Amino acid sequence: MTLPFTDLVRSLPESVPFVGPETHERQRGVPFKARIGANESVFGPSPKTVEAMCAAAEDAWKYCDAENYELKQALAKHHGVTAENIIIGEGIDGLLGLTVRLFVDPGDAVITSAGAYPTFNYHVDGHGGVLHKVPYKDDREDPEALLAAANEHRAKLIYISNPDNPMGTAHTAAVIQDMMERTPADTVLCLDEAYFEFADPAVSPPLDTSVSNVIRYRTFSKAYGMAGARIGYAIGAPEMIKAFDKVRNHFGVNKIAQAGALAALEDKAFLSEVQSSVRRARERIKEIAAENGLKVIPSETNFVAVDCGRDGDYARKVLSLLVERGIFVRMPGVAPMDRCIRVSAGTDEDLDAFAKELPRALKDAAASE
Ligand SMILES: *Cc1c(COP(=O)(O)O)cnc(C)c1O
Repeated sequence: MTLPFTDLVRSLPESVPFVGPETHERQRGVPFKARIGANESVFGPSPKTVEAMCAAAEDAWKYCDAENYELKQALAKHHGVTAENIIIGEGIDGLLGLTVRLFVDPGDAVITSAGAYPTFNYHVDGHGGVLHKVPYKDDREDPEALLAAANEHRAKLIYISNPDNPMGTAHTAAVIQDMMERTPADTVLCLDEAYFEFADPAVSPPLDTSVSNVIRYRTFSKAYGMAGARIGYAIGAPEMIKAFDKVRNHFGVNKIAQAGALAALEDKAFLSEVQSSVRRARERIKEIAAENGLKVIPSETNFVAVDCGRDGDYARKVLSLLVERGIFVRMPGVAPMDRCIRVSAGTDEDLDAFAKELPRALKDAAASE
């Protein structure tokens, strides 16, 4: 029997977007010593967030408030915008999918960078959009190339992450502001700010919700330590935000995550502790790299790209030796960025384990060259 899949689905490759640490652990039969590969916040959610989530668990028999009313109000206050400027979703990943669904018909052009955050691409493929990828320039996404491609292909969407994943680099607010202003009126600029809370404030232009063709994504997954709770949001003009109600999964944000996010937003002291822990961890990763004769790419995020100093094949070897030795890290997928491995800000213990295993992995990788 053949199932009646759409032509589009039949045309898609079978794909496993991310091999998760759990998969590695099942294959290896032992847990990782350090889980510093997915840019999760090892510093966890704030104790107040955990408390709020535990309390909300008792109410899990109820559906969530489909309007996300309280969280929207709190976020509006937090950002100095109105609730009409905010859409809450199942993480940035969920909201990216809905954005593509709102704007991309099969055959429509979409612009991103080769090697940029891949989840966006899966959504574009899944809706039949045509991706045009421009190269990074000096380890950063290239706004000029993205804009030129958008003009050339009359693109519906441009995707850029600032700060960027997987390199951790960022453009200044002035560069991003200029990009917003030069995005064609019939193109939507999707600005992914998943790492906003870790970055120098000077890399993020002020929120301007009067601009209708820019949407900015934020998340509770990274700085707020709630990756597994699946909750994030986007900020935009009311015209943009309202449209999500046409396509979103209205009960898709779980009640426990809603309560956790509200508490997380209030616990400013915890957030600043996490921010300083991440700054310390970035410094430590830089030191560990230096002890091994390696350089890092300066980071505005909770991870650091460590330049292994040779080509992608060598870095892939280093990475798999680290994974074998119980250190979960990931790496960029596209040259020349794939000369790096990407190490998330870990606890002291995580980074001790990394410091111990990195020289061994480098030695074995070099020996097998
Ligand atoms: C981690 C990450 C996300 C995922 O955010 P969720 O809110 O957990 O879906 C989105 N974009 C970038 C660039 C990321 O690194």
